[in-house]
Amino acid sequence: MITIQNYRKVEDLAEAYELNQKKANRIVGGMMWLRMSKGRVQTAIDLSGLGLDTIEEDEQEFRIGCMTTLRQLELHEGLQKYFGGAVRESVRHIVGTQFRNGATVGGSIFGRFGFSDVLTCFLAMDSYVELYQGGIVPLREFVRMERDRDILVRLIVKKDGRKAVCLSERACSTDFPILVCAVSISEGRVEVAIGARPMKAEVVTLAEMAEDQALAELTEDKIEELAEKAAESFRFGSNMRGSAQYRQHLAYVLVKRGLKKLWKEEA
Ligand SMILES: Cc1cc2nc3c(=O)[nH]c(=O)nc-3n(C[C@H](O)[C@H](O)[C@H](O)COP(=O)(O)OP(=O)(O)OC[C@H]3O[C@@H](n4cnc5c(N)ncnc54)[C@H](O)[C@@H]3O)c2cc1C
Repeated sequence: MITIQNYRKVEDLAEAYELNQKKANRIVGGMMWLRMSKGRVQTAIDLSGLGLDTIEEDEQEFRIGCMTTLRQLELHEGLQKYFGGAVRESVRHIVGTQFRNGATVGGSIFGRFGFSDVLTCFLAMDSYVELYQGGIVPLREFVRMERDRDILVRLIVKKDGRKAVCLSERACSTDFPILVCAVSISEGRVEVAIGARPMKAEVVTLAEMAEDQALAELTEDKIEELAEKAAESFRFGSNMRGSAQYRQHLAYVLVKRGLKKLWKEEA
């Protein structure tokens, strides 16, 4: 069980950052993950008074505050419209509605959990994290960075005309995923992110085609070729949810399904 000695609802990010430099203190998001851990926290640092629980949208990007909940992501019309429901699909299997009303974007992305549907989905997009000290860093870089004591302030997702789809396989609904797959096509580049390998999600570029021809150039054979390439491009491991071999096969199946979905939508 986790025990917390003091609770501080901070007045600004500078105060939160300063408190967070002490090893015994912890930033709390929705506390859905943290509360299952063991140990003593001296001061729980609450960011909920800083207005970071909104999704701002303009012509260029979405700016998602770290205290935005997964449920807000699921219900946000702009995100669903722009990314064809990929974001909703990435969160809708996570435990239940009450849970998603608590779990935050900051906790989900900063945690860099291997099983994360959320991280996998945003890795297939042109996404950035805004760190209080570290500034704006591409999510693809952030995911490989050592964990430090910075604060994730916002997740920024660019509107670059990307078509995206997110799919997962679970032994039963609401369980942790056996594999998560997000496929995107932008400016002729076909990219795929695979999470729950069971290691942390990674992203690879599967193909570079002439801009605005990527979807038109897809055929059944091309999709088959790209799905096979995707399955060969990642390293997979085994755990209680599935073997490496099973995960590799799932990667092939989900990438194929994802590409077909994008292809059919275009047609
Ligand atoms: C039972 C269970 C099942 C789950 N199933 C899934 C699943 O199927 N798919 C999936 O994708 N996810 C799943 N999750 C993860 C969940 O969706 C959240 O990602 C997780 O709970 C973290 O979010 P939180 O807001 O609760 O963060 P917290 O638990 O509050 O924090 C998590 C960590 O992030 C740090 N942190 C939080 N916010 C910030 C910030 N702004 N800056 C810096 N550090 C910060 C905290 O100090 C802590 O170390 C599951 C979690 C649980 C408990």
